[in-house]
Amino acid sequence: MSSGHLTIDLGAIAANWTALAAQSAGETAAVIKADGYGLGAGRIARALAEAGARRFFVALAEEGAAVRAALGPGPMIGVLSGHMEGDTELIRAHDLVPMLNSVDQMLRQVEALPNRPFGIQLDTGMSRLGMEPGEWSALRDLAMSRKPVLLMSHLACADEPDHPMNPRQLHQFREMTAGLDVPRSLAATGGILLGSDYHFDLTRPGIGLFGGQPFAEARPVVRLDIPVIQLRTIAPGETVGYANAWTAERPSRIATLSAGYADGLLRALGGRLRLYHGAIPCAAVGRVSMDLITVDVTDLREDPGYLTLLGPHQGVDRLAAAAGTIGYEILTSLGARYSRRYVA
Ligand SMILES: *Cc1c(COP(=O)(O)O)cnc(C)c1O
Repeated sequence: MSSGHLTIDLGAIAANWTALAAQSAGETAAVIKADGYGLGAGRIARALAEAGARRFFVALAEEGAAVRAALGPGPMIGVLSGHMEGDTELIRAHDLVPMLNSVDQMLRQVEALPNRPFGIQLDTGMSRLGMEPGEWSALRDLAMSRKPVLLMSHLACADEPDHPMNPRQLHQFREMTAGLDVPRSLAATGGILLGSDYHFDLTRPGIGLFGGQPFAEARPVVRLDIPVIQLRTIAPGETVGYANAWTAERPSRIATLSAGYADGLLRALGGRLRLYHGAIPCAAVGRVSMDLITVDVTDLREDPGYLTLLGPHQGVDRLAAAAGTIGYEILTSLGARYSRRYVA
């Protein structure tokens, strides 16, 4: 038995990509790092390639190798961490395109893979990845002589459309790339929604493909049903779970479900975790355990076989808000124990 059943709608992912591509001024890539935001990079890459995506980005060379195995030769697979020590063989064997982040990475690339394609990541103010303006001006001529396939940067505040950081980074990106005849990329999901000034030649949506904010029109992509292992009736005054954290105030029907914090049900959700029986919300009571949660189903007219954690009445972002986090973290925390079903 698995701890729950995760249904991933590949048709919705493809439709979300197509919708973001329709809004993008140039070409649209797909970011499927961290195993496709936890949902399965290989299956998702194939569905998106069928929908028309020709460029993919992952965080690590190992992730790129997995995506290459799923896609076969042809599509570009960019590696956002660049060319790290020990990556050379993976980059060569799987025909990956590192987005070089520093002088050290540039030298490693030129030395180890002199005739292989690479991109350059520029830091336009986020102070996370990429070459800073000073570093870039020192390296620019060498880099350009070797014909990078892409110049890219990443926005720090794109999910806040009015944030002054957005135009500041746009200006910096234009400055750093002015006069260079190389395709450029600045926008992820949030940047696409900022408008065509931010799009350049290639956009790089990730979360928007998977139904998460800030792409509000996204079609939902995941459904997560968790089976009930056991049901019991308890009397007022009886307690539930570790540390006696919850006490029944009325005769209560308690369902024990087979997923816990090892499956991404963040323990910090505490008493704010809700699961659904159809449209009816049921509150989790007591602590989240490693493999189990306990849910008050007293108000249901029938004993449930399973409850729905993610579905039509609670999307990724609603669950994230209850946990004080973001949809990205909910998706990438889902864990390996669910059975996965992909629907077209
Ligand atoms: C994660 C990431 C993306 C995709 O961002 P979303 O907000 O998920 O659309 C694009 N570019 C870079 C450099 C990233 O790290």
